[in-house]
Amino acid sequence: MIDTHCHIDFEEYDFDRQEVIKKAKDCLDAVIVSGIGYESNKGVLELSKEYENFIYPSFGFHPVSSQNSPQEELINTHEQIIENKNNILAIGEVGMDYFYVKDKAQREKQKEIFQTFIELSDEYEIPLLMHVRDCEKKALNMVLEYDNIPYVVFHCYSGSKKTAKRIMEKDNYYMSFSTMLCYSNAHQELIKNIELEHILTETDSPYLAMTKEERNEPANVVNAVKKIAEIKNEDLQTVDDITTSNARKVFGI
Ligand SMILES: [Zn+2]
Repeated sequence: MIDTHCHIDFEEYDFDRQEVIKKAKDCLDAVIVSGIGYESNKGVLELSKEYENFIYPSFGFHPVSSQNSPQEELINTHEQIIENKNNILAIGEVGMDYFYVKDKAQREKQKEIFQTFIELSDEYEIPLLMHVRDCEKKALNMVLEYDNIPYVVFHCYSGSKKTAKRIMEKDNYYMSFSTMLCYSNAHQELIKNIELEHILTETDSPYLAMTKEERNEPANVVNAVKKIAEIKNEDLQTVDDITTSNARKVFGI
């Protein structure tokens, strides 16, 4: 099993990161940690070096608040991605969040910034790991304009069935599902329509734990895999094999 998206570089893990990683190592094949900005990306890279061949980095840029970030940080992050293009598994998380951002001009700014990362992903042929909320269709239409993005991942997909169907028309497009599946009826219903061949698993730790007070961790991805097996009436091993091999293909690990 692979946790394809989490943030164990966050300070929430400062007092027990080693144990959290050890626990993950006992049950998972790999963990992908997603940076969320210039400084965060640096930390993610450090962490991946410390736990080589288990923790892998992806470099991102403020998916929920990119519109408020200084232009200089945007440019620095572009350069950082290019410099590390052979070290990172993906560009992400990057994207747009129309759930949090309602203002039209701010949404437009997010879109412009997101576009610059899509272009990088296309130019350097690096997989794109997207955070898109309440604008899945728009994001899909944007990435469909590009032919050289090797893989596209909708992290924590929460869009419509209709958009999911269009995503599945592309062999190299994936939707990742998190531990949220264990308690979200909407996601349980949604995943019934998604083919295993297009599914990745994640935790988005420290977020999306079983309860709001709890801190999530990568080892919990097991619960998401179990839930998928239960909903789809498949055995756990089959779901594990397919989703793990999807992740290995997308991220080249
Ligand atoms: Zn995230």
